[in-house]
Amino acid sequence: MRKVYLDNNATTRMREEVLEAMLPYLKDIYGNASSVHQFGRAARAALDNARNQVASFLGAASPEEIIFTSGGTESDNLAIKGVAHAMRSKGDHLITTAIEHSAVLNTCRALEKDGYKVTYLPVDEYGLVSVDSLRKAIGPQTVLISIMYANNEVGTIEPITELAEVAKERGVYFHTDAVQALGKISFDLSSLPVDLLSMSGHKIYGPKGVGVLYIRKGTRIDAIAHGGHHEMNKRAGTENVPAIVGLGRACELAKKELPDEWRKLIALRDRLYQGIMSKIPHVSLFGHPEKRLPNTLNVGFKYLEGESILLNLDMEGIAVSTGSACTSGTLEPSHVLTAMGIDPADAQGAIRFSLGRDNTEEDIDYVLTMLPPIIQRLRDMSPLYEKGN
Ligand SMILES: *Cc1c(COP(=O)(O)O)cnc(C)c1O
Repeated sequence: MRKVYLDNNATTRMREEVLEAMLPYLKDIYGNASSVHQFGRAARAALDNARNQVASFLGAASPEEIIFTSGGTESDNLAIKGVAHAMRSKGDHLITTAIEHSAVLNTCRALEKDGYKVTYLPVDEYGLVSVDSLRKAIGPQTVLISIMYANNEVGTIEPITELAEVAKERGVYFHTDAVQALGKISFDLSSLPVDLLSMSGHKIYGPKGVGVLYIRKGTRIDAIAHGGHHEMNKRAGTENVPAIVGLGRACELAKKELPDEWRKLIALRDRLYQGIMSKIPHVSLFGHPEKRLPNTLNVGFKYLEGESILLNLDMEGIAVSTGSACTSGTLEPSHVLTAMGIDPADAQGAIRFSLGRDNTEEDIDYVLTMLPPIIQRLRDMSPLYEKGN
């Protein structure tokens, strides 16, 4: 059976070149980067090189602004808790949005239990945050604003430059979870006034369990894990050298290939969307029609449950998601679609197709052959469908 992987927002397949770069560090170059002898120095050199690769990929002013972590989740935790703690004497108010990844939402909820106050900004029907609503939410106690660059479920790209400029005007730190944006849209920290930014290795064809928190020089932040003097005293623990080397290589490749990759993904995604629209009735597009990641297509199939579509596609070798990988297994409608004001009945039938660099036109055409009969069969069995028609 053909296998078509369309769940690249959940994770990506690690690139061959990344594995090649990592192999020596999984075998012969095993030193601890903090050791002074030549084994340690070899590991340290690899870390320095990866830090430079990431800094150049992001457009950071200095490699010292790059902190390696265990992934996007830890980076979000470090950014939010770290700044909240360091700024506690100045204020106790944070601002985020209702559509963040659970790594941000649940970190904010944990801080609320510790006495912090959090404002969750609403979004419009496309998932966009308004710059005006941010301006109104900032008060004298506000110490941090955390808004995702692009949403993982619907792909909507937020007006991050404008939002970050408001924060800068008001003297409030700004963090962005850029895990989904990096490698997919062009990006440069030299023209983006954010203070902190999270990224993850496994979303850009690198290894799992490694990520980065960019911390602009001068930003006040406390460590959340305590131990040795690793990572500029901001993240204790012996560095995961092989994974960090892989992440560095993934960044280098992503930067070089982005323009071609972008064009290719848009073409494939639009082929999929147009095919679905021409072959299947009662379909709606979730997310912004233009301000959207090139690889992400979230559509609602009216009268159906996303879970049954997912399972039927899986039997044909096609991997998709009903939204966020972290919420599958529950039948609650997605918090993102709910915040966008999508009718819960429509949100139930949402399917996220997230494309990647391995996908081909043949993959898309295979989906366009298998999907319409599945939808028809499921609708024929659905009592909702008869009532609606
Ligand atoms: C995947 C993801 C994360 C979590 O990253 P991990 O490296 O898996 O911990 C955080 N934010 C967004 C938007 C994501 O898509």
